Amino acid sequence: MAYDDSNVFARILRGELPCIKVFEDDHTLAFLDIMPQSDGHTLVLPKEPAVTLLDLSPEGATACILTTRRVAAAVQRAVGAPGLLISQFNGEAAGQTVPHVHFHIIPRFPGLKLKAHGRERGDPDRLDQIAARITGELASAR
Ligand code: AMP
Repeated sequence: MAYDDSNVFARILRGELPCIKVFEDDHTLAFLDIMPQSDGHTLVLPKEPAVTLLDLSPEGATACILTTRRVAAAVQRAVGAPGLLISQFNGEAAGQTVPHVHFHIIPRFPGLKLKAHGRERGDPDRLDQIAARITGELASAR
């Protein structure tokens, strides 16, 4: 699928827009979802321009899953979630709204329903506090 480099995640990757970053390496970037479905909702994306998982190189896919696994462990500890939903949408028909492939890490708590996808902005102070806890967990896991 043709990649449109004006999408919001491409602009974040180029440093043109801010994000609440929790992790970065040569191939991937992870930041908090600004409209979290639960506390700690984090996105992991490859730096490689690709719309869907099927457009991503095997190397990019490998880097994404390794970062997702590493960041997910830190998110889980940071928010004390007993469960994690890890999801990924490919194409508008599947619910993808930003056309740069990404993985959602969404903490789950018993009896707590998820908020709607991409609807309600999180409180900026709360997002910053959660990001600090996640980066702290990542640092101590090294
Ligand atoms: P998807 O529908 O899988 O493409 O998900 C896109 C996600 O990106 C949604 O959960 C949005 O809340 C989130 N999102 C959109 N813009 C931003 C942004 N500027 N920073 C962080 N998350 C964003």
